[in-house]
Parts: sequence; C-alpha cells; structure tokens
Amino acid sequence: MSDLAPKTPVLQLTGVHHSYGDTPAVRGLDLSVGAGEVVCLLGPSGCGKTTALRIAAGLEPVRAGSVELDGVIVTRPGEIMPPENRNLGLVFQDYALFPHMTIAKNIAFGLPRGVDTAGRVKAVLEQVGLSDYAGAYPHELSGGQQQRVALARALAPEPRIILMDEPFSGLDARLRESVRDRTLHILKRSKSAVLMVTHDAEEAMHMADRIVVMRQGHVEQDGTPDSLYLRPVNGFVAGFFGDVNRLSGRVSGGAVDTPLGVFDANGLPEGGAAQVVIRPEALALSGEGSGAVQVKVLASRMLGRTSLIHLCTCQTTGQELHLHARMPGRYLPDEGAMQSVKLDRSQVFVFPAEGAT
Ligand code: ATP
Repeated sequence: MSDLAPKTPVLQLTGVHHSYGDTPAVRGLDLSVGAGEVVCLLGPSGCGKTTALRIAAGLEPVRAGSVELDGVIVTRPGEIMPPENRNLGLVFQDYALFPHMTIAKNIAFGLPRGVDTAGRVKAVLEQVGLSDYAGAYPHELSGGQQQRVALARALAPEPRIILMDEPFSGLDARLRESVRDRTLHILKRSKSAVLMVTHDAEEAMHMADRIVVMRQGHVEQDGTPDSLYLRPVNGFVAGFFGDVNRLSGRVSGGAVDTPLGVFDANGLPEGGAAQVVIRPEALALSGEGSGAVQVKVLASRMLGRTSLIHLCTCQTTGQELHLHARMPGRYLPDEGAMQSVKLDRSQVFVFPAEGAT
C-alpha cells in the first residue's frame, strides 16, 4: 500500500509476527525504511509500535517473518543477530544516559574500537550544538539538551539506521516543538535512515517522510503524510489525524444521505451501513442564511490560529447532530446564531461503518 516505496531499503520487515506468551503484539507486519528516509510508526497505545522497533533492533525474536538490514537477514524464527552487531543507533524515551559519566564519555561509550573516538565525539557534539558541554554531567543539562546528547550518542558510530522510541515524550509541550524541529534537521543532515515510534499524529507529520499507521499489530496504511491526510483508507486512519465529524447513514441508490448532504457511496454495497467522515476544516460557515444547510451555533472558541465552532443541526433537520467546524483566524459567531455551511467535499470521506467490514 506504500505510495513512496524506498528504492533500496536499509531496513525491511516482512510478514513479522511476535507474541508475548499468548498475547499477539505484531501480526504480519511489513515495513521498510530507505536510505536517508525518516519513517514514523504511528498508532494508539498497545498497537505494537515499540515491539516492532525492538524487533528491528534485535531486542525481540520473531515467530514468523524476517528482518533484513541492507538485504541481509538479521532476524528470522529461531535466529537473531544481537543489536551490537547491527550497526544501528538507539534513542529511547528516557535517553538512558549514564549519570556518573560526562557527556563526552556517554557518547564515547558505545563506539567500536579503532575509531577516532575524540574526533567523533567532537563532531557529533558540534552537530547537535552542544560543543561546550563535553565535560558536563547529564544532571547539569536541561531535558532538551539531554535528548540531544542521546541523539549524538546514537549518531556517533555513523549507523546505517537510527531507531527512536517516543524520543520527545519526556519534554514539555513548548520545548518539544523546538527540540523535534532541531532533531529533524540534524537527522536529515546525517543522511541516516530513521525509524521513529510515536503515538502523536502531529509529531509524525512534522518528522516523517513516510508514516506507517498501525492498529492491533498490523499496518493500516503506509504513505506520505499528505497522502494519509488527504486519502485515508478507512475511518480509523482519517480519525487518527485530528478531530473529525462522523455521520452515519445507509447506502441507497449508490449514495449516503446525511443532514450535511448526499455523498457518493464509493461503491459500498446497497443497504449497507456507512460512515461519512468530515474534517472540521471542511465546514466553511457564514452568517448569510441562503446556504443549503443551516446549523445552529452551540459555542465558539478561539484556539489561536483557528476558531472552533460547536454546531447542531437540531433546528433544521430535527436530528441532534453535534458537529465541529474549524475556521481560520477569529470567527466567533454568537451562541444560538444560525449559520450556513458550505462543504469542501475533498475533505469528506465515505467508508463502511466500523465493524461492518
Ligand atoms: P505504547 O504506545 O503504549 O507504548 P505500543 O504501540 O508501543 O504501545 P507495544 O508496547 O509494542 O505497543 O505492545 C503491544 C502489545 O504487547 C500490547 O498488548 C502490550 O500490552 C503487549 N506487551 C508489550 N510488552 C510486553 C511484555 N514485555 N510482556 C507482555 N506483553 C507485552
């Protein structure tokens, strides 16, 4: 399903299965990361992201399938090449820095014999903008700086691939934005392949060339951030990239009739239950009462760059349908006011109802 298949995968997982005892964690996972590509594994808690990353790292075995690095099988059932032989860099959620070692020693720790240790430490500290901290200890650094040390340590051996598990989750929201921005530029300059786990869709869109959305141990969709946002394959993927309005209806005459209009059923079976997923920014509101669909304002909230307007179709359709519209800038109609809705149909998606497939 990938619409941006890398030409020469550095990492390839094929048909991978893994269980913890009787609990299946990864079921038939296919995944690849190309040279210089940043791929984010995205999905809800428990969907198997960390397990997939640990399998790639050589920290977990597989029951079926294989893992290849640069075309060489490094894991298959009953066989596993240890992480230290895989030429990879690891960045964990808690950074895992040694508290009793200086920053320079932390970075030098995992470097193989024979490399110019002092030269590599100096180079990666420059790369992450921490040259002045070589002699400091981890507790003397901020959370963001510690994250950069962890990144420098992963980059130091010039690995073929860097594996990152929720690398920004320990940072507060404001710091996270600047740290991840900086991290993206460092990673892109390093030209490493990167596989990063996150449960945050916005973070994945910020970081990734390609996003792999997982649910219950398998891939739901694999593609560029814009293709996932603009062409989600199901309601789960559509809903994972932000708040959505979900309307339900039945397919009749090849269409689904809803209080917001009639939508093409995209070939869904006649009489079947359908869900119509509409992004809040697809609803353009205006105070002029001539639009085909009229809605009543329940509340208006300024969110900064956009305004969020809570709406109800109750007065015109008789149905208690609660909707969200997101308008650019400051748009704050009064509670109780009637608004006309104009729909951007490119942001409306029709799928089988959840559980109907
Ligand atoms: P989160 O975002 O919460 O970290 P995740 O998507 O990374 O979740 P995993 O940690 O890979 O998911 O877990 C996948 C499944 O395997 C879950 O059902 C989880 O409870 C189970 N699991 C994970 N680690 C273990 C373990 N060490 N022993 C038993 N079950 C485990």
